[in-house]
Amino acid sequence: MTQAAKKLPRIEINKKLCKGCSICVDFCPTDVLEMGGAVVTVKNLEACTRCQLCDLRCPDFAIQVFD
Ligand code: SF4
Ligand code: SF4
Repeated sequence: MTQAAKKLPRIEINKKLCKGCSICVDFCPTDVLEMGGAVVTVKNLEACTRCQLCDLRCPDFAIQVFD
């Protein structure tokens, strides 16, 4: 039997709300996020632990993490 693929979280970034402050990048403990120009982007989804810190710290409700 093959091992089931690890289920990854889903990170949603609202590009209209994100002002590119990089708070979420700074708070992410596993370096999942990076600034991709004016808005944040996901660079390493596999490293996301679903800790929700980015979601909690974003002042603009622009990033959400779903299990
Ligand atoms: S904390 Fe929020 S507004 Fe700031 S870069 Fe991250 S998603 Fe964008
Ligand atoms: S949920 Fe945690 S690990 Fe995942 S991107 Fe946000 S801060 Fe980083």
